[in-house]
Amino acid sequence: MTPQALETLGTRIDEVFLLIGAAILLIELAEVLFKGSHKGRTIAEMLVSASTQIPSIAVQVFILTGAYIIYYILAEVAQPWQIPLTWWGIALAVIAADFTYYWEHRIAHQVRILWTQHAVHHSSRDYNIITGIRFGPLEGVWNLIMHIPLVFLGFSPEMIFFGIIVVLAYQTWIHTEVIGKLGWFDKVMNSPANHRVHHGCDDKYIDMNYGGITVIWDQLFGTYQAEEETPRYGLKRDFDSRNPIKVWFSELPGLWHDVTRARSWGEAWRYMMRPPGWKPSADRGE
Ligand SMILES: [Zn+2]
Repeated sequence: MTPQALETLGTRIDEVFLLIGAAILLIELAEVLFKGSHKGRTIAEMLVSASTQIPSIAVQVFILTGAYIIYYILAEVAQPWQIPLTWWGIALAVIAADFTYYWEHRIAHQVRILWTQHAVHHSSRDYNIITGIRFGPLEGVWNLIMHIPLVFLGFSPEMIFFGIIVVLAYQTWIHTEVIGKLGWFDKVMNSPANHRVHHGCDDKYIDMNYGGITVIWDQLFGTYQAEEETPRYGLKRDFDSRNPIKVWFSELPGLWHDVTRARSWGEAWRYMMRPPGWKPSADRGE
């Protein structure tokens, strides 16, 4: 297979999931219009989720496009061997991207400076197909950094980008309440039920189901939780806004508040690098 053919395949896969997403969106909109009791609020929530694409795409165009070149330079100068562009090589790239996504996602939940970006995806009290395109402005930067090690494993940049696209495209259809539990499928693959759990802020659901395409990594590393009662969606703290600016930058004022009041550089650093909600008293065992 040629790199161009792989790029075309990535685009086709993306389009297929986009079509499935569009079909689910139509069902969700019909539900809101004919059955929904808070029509205005639900539509406003969808619009603010969609608005997060504005800064996200701007970052993509102005920062990330240039940064992709880093992959080609690294592949040129520092790649120990090359995994061939065959079907098994491509399958390996998707598995590697799915594994990387699990850790990228898990770390983004546990390091507050990264959480300032990923929290945007989690800050809606609703859960629908548009939540799937609700991203923090700089989330793509962390994604790019975390996949660099795949170059050193021998994957070409084209294979890595293909893996990233497939892992993200797959997740389009799982942001919905229209599809219920799926039996054995929920045990192995990421699914609407599994991802609803991930968006829940209830104690039993918080920080569970980080998987992208599969939940095998969650099963292996002890972060799998099946859906039981319907989750309460959104952040643990009180946040519910339809103001785009507040949604795009929701976590920054809180982090700024804590960092500027830290009593030392070390404490400021720990506020940024420890999990959200960390306080200095936690280190003193209080
Ligand atoms: Zn998450």
